[in-house]
Amino acid sequence: MPTLRFYNTLTNWKEDFHPLIPGEVRMYTCGPTVHDFAHIGNFRAYLFEDLLRRTLKYLGFRVIQVMNLTDVDDKTIRKSQAKSMTLRDYTAIYKEAFFQDLDALRIERAEVYPAATDHVPEMVELIRRLVEKGHTYEADGSIYFRISSFPEYGKLSNIRADELRAGVRVDADEYEKEDVRDFALWKAWTPEDGEVYWETALGKGRPGWHIECSAMAARYLGTHFDIHTGGVDNIFPHHENEIAQSVCGFGTKFANYWLHNAHLVVNGEKMSKSLGNFYTLRDVTSAGFSPRVVRYFLLSAHYRQPLNLVYDPRAGVTESLDAARSALGRLDEFRVKLTELGRRSAAGDLQSREVSDLLDKAEEALVAALANDLDVSGALGAVFTLVKEGNRLLASGEMTPTDAVAVNDKLQRWDRVLGVVEPEAETGVDAERIEALIRERNEARQAKNFARADEIRQQLLREGIVLQDSPTGTRWKKE
Ligand SMILES: [Zn+2]
Repeated sequence: MPTLRFYNTLTNWKEDFHPLIPGEVRMYTCGPTVHDFAHIGNFRAYLFEDLLRRTLKYLGFRVIQVMNLTDVDDKTIRKSQAKSMTLRDYTAIYKEAFFQDLDALRIERAEVYPAATDHVPEMVELIRRLVEKGHTYEADGSIYFRISSFPEYGKLSNIRADELRAGVRVDADEYEKEDVRDFALWKAWTPEDGEVYWETALGKGRPGWHIECSAMAARYLGTHFDIHTGGVDNIFPHHENEIAQSVCGFGTKFANYWLHNAHLVVNGEKMSKSLGNFYTLRDVTSAGFSPRVVRYFLLSAHYRQPLNLVYDPRAGVTESLDAARSALGRLDEFRVKLTELGRRSAAGDLQSREVSDLLDKAEEALVAALANDLDVSGALGAVFTLVKEGNRLLASGEMTPTDAVAVNDKLQRWDRVLGVVEPEAETGVDAERIEALIRERNEARQAKNFARADEIRQQLLREGIVLQDSPTGTRWKKE
């Protein structure tokens, strides 16, 4: 296995990767704030994390990934009130939409998706530790982290300590670098919060945004773990604040490697609703582009490079996604030819030396690229070199049916890490049908018809669909 290396934002250096426990990687990935549909820029981050997770697994690591769901913060409260809905009902809509989009984009499920509202006791406990250790102060019933109490504050984002304004506070969950200030760990209830509050040892109120990731990372990964990821916009203040809270509260190190992805821009500009260049996955798929094409496009640039989506469907401009679609078309065409030829293979046929060398070289190139800080261009380069060389051998008649099967198997194996090889129709999961079967199974269980309920579970299992029952309902995932 080649040396696995990642660019670590904490040291500004590409470093060899060594997990704390050999063979196992524990990683925390900041998840969505479920106040709206995620836009495709958000999915760039989740796809980079998916590639990271799949690469680690491909290289033989066991991965434990945690992604939080922020279902209480300034935005979710404000928007649920505007719709006259409870916070729980409002955020449930966007939690569900988020998982549908993940599945459509073939993003593997993390091991745990903790919701902030289910972990307030853990947050209260961490804040109490910070209070006891003298890192906080109270103002108007809220509790703030005193950043001057942590000399290392600013190390991740390269903010200089002399820019810190001691004792000046910020209440908003999100703020800019010009507002480096003591931030809220616990926000005292105000009438604007309405029904959203918890009665705790800290008083009546709600947690600030940053504390949830420190508390939930510790709960599921331990206080010191391997990798923490997010978009570059998370570096300050969110990740800086997470480090301060965790290191001061638990007295241990926090994450060893910090990986951050660059933004997706649309037509060279930051995506924003006011510029009219804001797209959700649903917008793009209803314009006729499959989630597989979107996945390919979002994965096709290295995660630390800004990626520009040239896209204005009303003006007929779709060149970025057209290019992704045509690359996948070349791959599909190649695979159709391989499948046709492969049908003629017979047991005992030998593989040609040329093709087996080609496959060995291709595998080496793909793995070396991914191990080098997830160089996806190199990995896709290995795929399309194989397509090109394979087409040449097909055209000259040098590829045997057994060779064709071997090449096809290789591409399928690579799909474990890339998730773009299988065409839509073959991996296409009919979510509505699955949901209908789950409803039928629940009805069967309620009617104590356990034989039918079990039959449905088994049927789905044969299709690679695994059901997970929990007190909040049944979830499914494709294995
Ligand atoms: Zn976070």
